[in-house]
Amino acid sequence: MSAPVVTLVVPCYNEEEILPYTINHLHELVTEFIRDRFISEKSRILFVDDGSRDATWSLIYKASIQTEHIRGLKLARNSGHQNALLAGLFAAKTVSDCVISLDADLQDDIGVVRSFIEKFKEGYEVVYGVRDKRDTDTIFKRVTAQGFYKFMEKLGVPLVYNHADYRLMSKRALDALERFDEVNLFLRGIVPLIGFQSTSVYYDRKERLAGETKYPLKKMLAFAFNGITSFSVTPIRFVMLTGCAFFFTSLIFLSYFLILKFIGETETGWTSLITSIWLIGGLQLMAIGLIGEYIGKVYQESKRRPKYIVDVDLFNLGIPLAGDDEQSRQEEGSLQVLPKMN
Ligand code: UDP
Ligand code: MG
Repeated sequence: MSAPVVTLVVPCYNEEEILPYTINHLHELVTEFIRDRFISEKSRILFVDDGSRDATWSLIYKASIQTEHIRGLKLARNSGHQNALLAGLFAAKTVSDCVISLDADLQDDIGVVRSFIEKFKEGYEVVYGVRDKRDTDTIFKRVTAQGFYKFMEKLGVPLVYNHADYRLMSKRALDALERFDEVNLFLRGIVPLIGFQSTSVYYDRKERLAGETKYPLKKMLAFAFNGITSFSVTPIRFVMLTGCAFFFTSLIFLSYFLILKFIGETETGWTSLITSIWLIGGLQLMAIGLIGEYIGKVYQESKRRPKYIVDVDLFNLGIPLAGDDEQSRQEEGSLQVLPKMN
């Protein structure tokens, strides 16, 4: 395979402290790869400024004028990491064979970029960067993050364990990604849904060298909640199940209280009151859950996700089949009339 055109996409939000370092390191890496003819000289690094309020954009702007292979894209306002990433991926897609996304703080070891590209050359369309260890994260981040992956797995969302947004995607995979029309795009969940040949590359996550995390607890929780609700209607089902449980509990109560009543151990009116509280509570929860089921359906329909993504298309290849000319097709048609299926 000839040297592929690779674009590194780096979303940046208020990263002035670390950006000069990042620009240097990535530029070194890319020029080295180009020198080795490992990647095409048309390869680029694309920095996406996600509406930063500091000098991030002017740093990117300067670098893109002064340095070969560096490009910038400025979003009109802060749109969040996932959207900034998407903007970069789709901008890069048209001119690249594959695109690698990574964070501006270089916490994800850029030493494995080479293996990413090697895997791509072997024919993988998606390569996930997976954290081997999480030593450098705080205990809190580690526990919450891993809890999140486990929880998502329970809800049936196909996540790659310990993989964030450090990944390589081929142009074809990105074309497929573009067909996911939803507004709340949770990339980590969507990419495995695309399919195609994929593999993982393992690395150690480093500490942030400068600046502070742009994912404070509030954003992290919002991100996790968005991830859960845009992939799963299990929480709605949970309401329904609770309702059923309440309902059956009320039946058990009813028989128990009736027995008590006949033995004569209760106050007048208490039995009917307590039973109806549980009964009505249960019925209400079930009804809400049922309505939720329908809302869940509407919700999933409204996302208009593609139903399938084609990997190999031999049908439109343009190779004529043996005897596939007009005459023989007509003959065939008159000989074998297939029964119509309804
Ligand atoms: N980021 C962004 N927009 C935001 C928040 C973050 O583009 O609104 C970028 C940020 O500049 C960094 C990446 O997303 O390149 C990951 O953020 P960070 O490293 O702060 O997250 P953490 O590693 O702490 O999870
Ligand atoms: Mg980081």
